[in-house]
Amino acid sequence: MRSNFVIPGEVVGTAEEFLPGEGTYVRGEHLRASTTGVIEVDAKNRSAKVLPRINAPVTLRNGDVVVGQITDLKESLAILRLAFKRGCEERPIHNSEALIHISRVKNSYVKDIRSVLGLRDIIKAKIIDDTPTIGLSIVDGDLGVVKAYCGRCATPLRIEGDRLVCPDCGQVESRKLSTDFGTGVIR
Ligand SMILES: [Zn+2]
Repeated sequence: MRSNFVIPGEVVGTAEEFLPGEGTYVRGEHLRASTTGVIEVDAKNRSAKVLPRINAPVTLRNGDVVVGQITDLKESLAILRLAFKRGCEERPIHNSEALIHISRVKNSYVKDIRSVLGLRDIIKAKIIDDTPTIGLSIVDGDLGVVKAYCGRCATPLRIEGDRLVCPDCGQVESRKLSTDFGTGVIR
């Protein structure tokens, strides 16, 4: 299942490229999403819109793959707000808070979860605990960070060789990356 998903505030394209369609707004040079959904580009009219999700809530179970954004980080714990479940991109998640414990990040020892995850990062993860709180794992190779934001200036980071570099301020950071990182799609 592929999708070009965005969450509110994310860049859909440049205002030069696209006219703002439904579910988007223009701020500065960029067209941004006003809703969580999937980008649809109308090449003929050079416009882009974000199709919001329909209302029937999705249920979450062990083994499901989900995508969410990190809203808080402590030494041994990351807190996420879930955006959608893979295969159900257009449907909302009701109880959307989830946790990643430091022991569920890599096969090898991690001293501080903040060395492999960053605030605002978008994460693809597998549910390993569905009650009472949703617990996630990102140990597998296809799981982990799919979009990363600079810890200093919040600009999206880019891969240069095997490093993650901020194109704006030059900061170098490290993450536990998903193989989907930088592709804009969730496989
Ligand atoms: Zn930066």
